[in-house]
Amino acid sequence: MAEKFRSNPVPADMPRTADVVIIGGGPAGAAAAWAIDRAAPGTRIVVIEQSSQLAAGASLASLENFRTCWAAPCLHRMMQRSIHIFHHPDEFLGEGVKLGVKQQGYLFVGFKSADAERLRSDVEHLHRCGLTHVEYLDGDEVGRRYAWLKGRVLAAKYDPIAGWLDSNALVYAFARAAQNTVFLLDVRETRIRVVGGRVVGVDTANGAIDAPKVVIAAGPGARALGRGIGIEIPVVVRPRQSFTTPYRHAGFEEDSPCIISAAPFPHVRPEAGTGAIFAYEYRWNTHHTGDYPVRDKLEEPVYPVSQWKDPRFPSLTLGLMARQFGYAPGEGFADPRYLRGVDHRAGYYVYRDNATYALADGTRQPYDSQRAIVDRWPEVEGLFVSVAHVGHGIMSAPAAGEILAAHVLGQPLPDPAFADFGLDVPFVEHDMGGLSDNKVK
Ligand SMILES: Cc1cc2nc3c(=O)[nH]c(=O)nc-3n(C[C@H](O)[C@H](O)[C@H](O)COP(=O)(O)OP(=O)(O)OC[C@H]3O[C@@H](n4cnc5c(N)ncnc54)[C@H](O)[C@@H]3O)c2cc1C
Repeated sequence: MAEKFRSNPVPADMPRTADVVIIGGGPAGAAAAWAIDRAAPGTRIVVIEQSSQLAAGASLASLENFRTCWAAPCLHRMMQRSIHIFHHPDEFLGEGVKLGVKQQGYLFVGFKSADAERLRSDVEHLHRCGLTHVEYLDGDEVGRRYAWLKGRVLAAKYDPIAGWLDSNALVYAFARAAQNTVFLLDVRETRIRVVGGRVVGVDTANGAIDAPKVVIAAGPGARALGRGIGIEIPVVVRPRQSFTTPYRHAGFEEDSPCIISAAPFPHVRPEAGTGAIFAYEYRWNTHHTGDYPVRDKLEEPVYPVSQWKDPRFPSLTLGLMARQFGYAPGEGFADPRYLRGVDHRAGYYVYRDNATYALADGTRQPYDSQRAIVDRWPEVEGLFVSVAHVGHGIMSAPAAGEILAAHVLGQPLPDPAFADFGLDVPFVEHDMGGLSDNKVK
């Protein structure tokens, strides 16, 4: 009964009570357990994961990247805090923990004068926010630093405090570091129990747990959990794809930064020795050929998520990048060896769906926010959410865990800017758009 990880436990192996139950064992849930335990050692925590392993959601498809260059202060402070923790695993996660951190930078490139203008103004904005390590590079400087890009790029924005890590190692490091925490794996049909407007525990297919506090950290599963107790958690999901190739063309070296191309921002970084990993926020709804209606978001995920893999995605991405970087057929990103042995994946990005900004006439316009919701749920005592981590839930996990822990423990937020992750904060400047298009238009 002392095991920390219990798979499909028989009722006798189910904890009967806990101080906090966390539903979802991805980066958000595991980080929440770590941070609560760190802030209040001895808290009895139970994490419930429906799969047979932790980190069974979007992180399986992710590029595992991190960067500081976020335009909204709440986001860049969140990433700076998290990256500090990635750099000090011994101090924060335990002696000898290895996260496989590679800090090779992010290079956002542009090909036209409008791209160069956008990148320059992004860098000016980031400098005003104190992120003075982010550089604007002209095409010559890019060519000097990265010979394979010489003559192909007009300008770039470079974030040296950026890179990637092993997200599975991160999630399991959180889990191992969370001292007084039990992880229940392969446990389905979790339902929250609420009596008189107050959380009293959860029921699962394996048995019930009484607890005064429950955290929903279930990624795309959050809305369904909320609906089970009659609340609408304002999140929507969009499928996103990535693929790994065993090949990488000459010049694109193993120590290269992650390259973010111009709109629609396909990106690639070195992976697995000789290979590369690619992704972009592809217009899945208009390209998908299945039975689902063309909409740009889903309230609830549909499974298996693999149905969203468009078989054309790898060749479309490579074709787009070959065009943008000016490669002739057979060269660079147009080399057919990129398409041999591709490992293609899909996962859900989860977005907050209650962000709006004011128009001149006073009406409010919805927009796609990059801000997670990490907050207490106002109408149900003892209920908390850590959801809508969009495309950065790995790089933000440590800080998101600490914000959630502050709410659960009734402590002040670690940084006042983190109030922007509140459920009812409709608008935050520079919180719009995807990879580099962070401005309200
Ligand atoms: C293509 C792609 C690329 C990405 N690239 C990056 C990147 O480079 N850097 C980065 O930081 N992020 C990236 N992300 C985003 C990142 O993966 C997510 O933001 C992150 O995984 C969100 O963490 P989460 O814990 O909220 O949700 P998830 O990772 O989805 O985990 C949720 C967990 O909850 C479990 N669960 C769900 N419902 C229930 C339930 N009812 N009961 C019990 N368990 C449940 C799931 O099985 C899962 O294990 C990418 C995502 C995709 C799809």
